[in-house]
Amino acid sequence: MDLGIEGRTALVCASSKGLGRACALSLAREGVRVTMSARGAEALEEAADAIRRETGATITTVIADVTTADGRDRLLAACPTPDILVNNAGGPKPGDFREWSREDWMNALDANMITPIELIKATIDSMIARRFGRIVNITSAAVKMPIDTLGLSNGARAGLTGFVAGLARQVVAHNVTINNLLPGPFDTDRLRSTAAMAAQASGQTPEAILAARRERVPARRYGDPAEFGDACAFLCGARAGFMTGQNLVLDGGVYPGTL
Ligand code: NAP
Repeated sequence: MDLGIEGRTALVCASSKGLGRACALSLAREGVRVTMSARGAEALEEAADAIRRETGATITTVIADVTTADGRDRLLAACPTPDILVNNAGGPKPGDFREWSREDWMNALDANMITPIELIKATIDSMIARRFGRIVNITSAAVKMPIDTLGLSNGARAGLTGFVAGLARQVVAHNVTINNLLPGPFDTDRLRSTAAMAAQASGQTPEAILAARRERVPARRYGDPAEFGDACAFLCGARAGFMTGQNLVLDGGVYPGTL
């Protein structure tokens, strides 16, 4: 299917690895000009080169911490009026809420709620003016099915979800959509680092933690980031303009609800 977005511009945050990188690749395959970002230069340049080689797309890189105002300014200087915005940042640390300070909460809110809202604020009016905009927020399946050790994520991402639910209905008449993609367990560095932390806490090996978790996935496997990237590209497509304010879970069947 031709998604009808060739020549569009996209800002894909936190995209040198994992799910963000997969979204950048899937959009580049559609002929979108992509601005990619991360804090670390090496992995970002390696990812950008690989995507350029495979797709021939124009890829711009920005080294920036998206959770800071300065980092967002640099991203927007490189890509001031994107047609497509993919919001992403690292996930907060796991733990027990009794140990979290106000600063821990503010960091989680900054990364997983305020940062995407600030980037939406900076870009949405130009999307409205052009009568085309696609905003995808990478959140987490934890929004629908909380993970006990990830309270910072459960809370901050639920705040973003509530905000987006209201805004999405206000802008869709201008062909600007906002949807959230909710990853379950995908095979990325983040999955392996959370397994390593769980292993430390429980005395098991990371491999044992990962194998046990995989067994609880009805698909009996972890998600491939490429599957996530293609779902993102579909939501960013010209034909997806009637779909907004949705929370799409990609989790191999883990979420047990009927709806
Ligand atoms: P990942 O493989 O660890 O990749 C994270 C990417 O984000 C890297 O490119 C990293 O590069 C960049 N990044 C992190 N913090 C950043 C910041 N402050 N500013 C700019 N770039 C930043 O993680 P992932 O698995 O793709 O996860 C992406 C998001 O989905 C996270 O919020 C995660 O919590 C959520 N999620 C993932 C899963 C899963 O199973 N993978 C499940 C549920 C939710 P630098 O470190 O160089 O900046």
